[in-house]
Parts: sequence; C-alpha cells; structure tokens
Amino acid sequence: MDFDLNEELRLVRDTAGRFAAEEIAPTLEEEERKGEFRAERVAKMGALGFFSCGLPEEFGGSGMGLLASVLMAEEIAKVSASWRLPFNMQNLGPALTVNKFGTAEQKKKYIPGWVAGTSLGFFAMTEAGTGSDVAGMKTYALDRGGHWEVHGGKMWISQAQVGDAGLLYALTDRTAGAKGMTAFIIEPKKMAGCSSRPIETKLGLHCAPTGEFSFDGMRVPKENVLGHPGEGFRVCMWQLNQTRLGCAAGALGVAGAALDLAVKYANERVQFGKPIASHQLVQGQIADMAVRHQAAQLLVYKAAWLKDQGKPSQYETSAAKYAASEAAVHAAGECMKIYGSYGFSSEYPVERLFRDSKSLQVVEGTSNIQKLIISGMALGLTPNRE
Ligand SMILES: Cc1cc2nc3c(=O)[nH]c(=O)nc-3n(C[C@H](O)[C@H](O)[C@H](O)COP(=O)(O)OP(=O)(O)OC[C@H]3O[C@@H](n4cnc5c(N)ncnc54)[C@H](O)[C@@H]3O)c2cc1C
Repeated sequence: MDFDLNEELRLVRDTAGRFAAEEIAPTLEEEERKGEFRAERVAKMGALGFFSCGLPEEFGGSGMGLLASVLMAEEIAKVSASWRLPFNMQNLGPALTVNKFGTAEQKKKYIPGWVAGTSLGFFAMTEAGTGSDVAGMKTYALDRGGHWEVHGGKMWISQAQVGDAGLLYALTDRTAGAKGMTAFIIEPKKMAGCSSRPIETKLGLHCAPTGEFSFDGMRVPKENVLGHPGEGFRVCMWQLNQTRLGCAAGALGVAGAALDLAVKYANERVQFGKPIASHQLVQGQIADMAVRHQAAQLLVYKAAWLKDQGKPSQYETSAAKYAASEAAVHAAGECMKIYGSYGFSSEYPVERLFRDSKSLQVVEGTSNIQKLIISGMALGLTPNRE
C-alpha cells in the first residue's frame, strides 16, 4: 500500500491550490458579501482541466481519474467552499452521468461544454416537498408523442438560475414510485415553459448560486431522455454516488482550512502569559480536529481510488461523505472556539467556514441518509454498487 501521491497528482493538486490563492482568495470576501457568482471563473477552471476527470479524451477528458478531481476540489474548498461546487455541477454530476448513461449524440452535444466550463451545469431532484425521499417527488412528464411535457418544480438547485444544460429527474409514471422516474437533459434557457429564480436567503455559500425551477408544460425533446424511461432512479443513485465524492472532497478542504487556521491562531494568541497552544485543553481540541480530518481524508481518497479502479464504492463514498462533512462542521466549530470573540467576527474567515460547513451535512443526502446507506450495506441488506 502506497500513501504517496504520484508526481502527476501532486502537480494537479498544486495547480488547483495556486488557482485558489491567486484567482479566488484576493476578491473572495467582497464577492461573498455581494453574493457574486462569476461565470468566467468557471470557464477559467474548465480551461485548466479542472472538470475533465473520469471522461474520455474525445469529449475533453484528460485521462485523469477522480482522485485528481478530489485533490483539486479539496484545494479549492480550503479557500472557498462556494467555488468547490462547480466540480459537481460540471464534471461529477452532469458530465460523468451523461458519459455513463447517454447516447453518442448526447455525449457529443453536452459533455464538452460542461468540461470547458462554458456551459453551466446542474442536477435537479429536490423539490419543496421532497428532499431525502427522492422517489417521493411530484414533478412529472407527460408523453406528448414527439416530445415530453414537464409540470412541477424543483428547489434548492445549485446553478439553477444560471444553468445552460443539466439533469432533471421527473416521474413519467406517477403510479410506479421509483420505477416511474426518468432522467432528462434539459436546457432551461432554451426550453419553453421553464423559468427559474434565485434563493437569496442562504446561510452561506454566497458565491455559489442556488435557485428554483418552475415547469409549466416545459417541452423536452424525445431525444433528451437520459437512459430509458423508468430508469431515472437508478441514474439518480449512480449520479449521487459520484457527486457525494465531490461534496466529501469539499468537506475535507473546509476541515483542513479550519485546522490550519486554528493551529496558526493557537500559536499566536497569548493568554495567561503563554500561547494558547500550550494549554492542554486547546491541544486536545487540535488533536480531535486533526484525527477527524486525517480519518476523513483516508476515507475520501479511498472512495476516489475505488471509483478509479471501477470497483463498487457506494459504501465507501457514503462513509467518506458522512465522515468528512461531520469533520468539517466539527473543525469549523472548534476553530471558532479557539478564535474566541474573533471567531464570531465577520472580519475573520472562521465564521464563513462555520456557515459554509453546515451545507455539507445536508447536500447530496443528509448525514442521516448516509447512515442509512452505510448501515444497509453493513447489515447486508443492500449490495455495494458502483
Ligand atoms: C446549498 C444547497 C445546495 C443544494 N443543491 C442541490 C442540487 O444541486 N440539486 C438538488 O437536487 N438538491 C440540492 N440541494 C438540496 C439537498 O440535496 C436537500 O436539501 C437534501 O437532500 C435534504 O432534503 P430536505 O432539505 O428536503 O430535508 P428532508 O428530507 O425534509 O429532511 C429533514 C430532516 O429529516 C431527516 N430525515 C429525512 N428522512 C429520514 C429518514 N428516513 N431517516 C432519518 N432521518 C431522516 C434528514 O436527515 C433531515 O435532518 C441543495 C441544498 C442546499 C442547502
């Protein structure tokens, strides 16, 4: 067993780290305050190959695996959890899923734009009334012969209001539950009957747009079904198993950033005549953060490695997502405590880490849902899948 990253992976990680330091960090706090999303930055990330992992060269893929994607997302999230999201919205969500289930025409038409970052992607399953219970969704599509007609709405969709092309999950048989779900590729700006609006009341992730879709008879061409009608739940679960990895990588970045900040501050801040780092209770806090971060890192890298080997990885990915998101929330909270009052101030990045970290326990399936998946497999009730 070799825990070292090879030269290529180190290079990829360092490139992402440099990008975060030079292109994101200098203007981040102002952009966060304004809630500013910059589409041209997604294209810049695309041009650097950030969204090319796990995809064939003919569609812009680089031949790099998902471990490379994890390393990049982790580096970006150390600086900004908001700017980790495009890894999921471009590469791990839409592009990988269309590459897995799409027709040759769909792959050629959509994947290159997502990889380049010039076509903004998304995936839409959550609704106002259903989140964890994906199969309980209400949005439906009627077969109108030459096209599908979609009615309903989606909520809490990352990049909805800026999205060019992405994945939509809807029921094509409302009596069949999960077996009645179908995946579609939609183009919201071009398809009549689709509107979107931003959600502007978020606690954090202010540079990552989140919005709602309304479908009032949206016309979707027949050729935009992804996979087969009725196969949508399988497509969705497969997609979530990829996007969960991206979320876990982001959580690792947040946990690592909180640990680094806490260590630095604990060495600098003097109370009772010595740096607070020399007080044993503070050392205990640092140790807890460090252990959770390291354990999560091993889980996340292993899940990525399994995917790169083409091995089943749902069990490990859910474990990684659960451990990393809980580690992120824990680390951000401990870091805030170590900063004392300054942790409570918006002049320091700690409170942003704290706010952003809470999203990680919710997106791509809450911690409870990850526990259900993990326990189902641990108990032998469900098989571990790709
Ligand atoms: C910033 C942000 C970005 C998002 N981006 C997207 C996106 O791009 N696409 C998308 O489709 N969705 C997105 N979401 C939605 C997200 O995936 C859902 O919010 C999430 O799946 C949880 O659903 P819910 O909010 O409806 O909570 P609910 O499902 O209502 O759950 C509420 C609580 O009940 C618990 N619970 C529910 N069922 C069970 C159970 N069986 N056992 C134990 N506990 C249970 C949950 O763990 C949770 O604590 C985003 C959300 C946020 C906050």
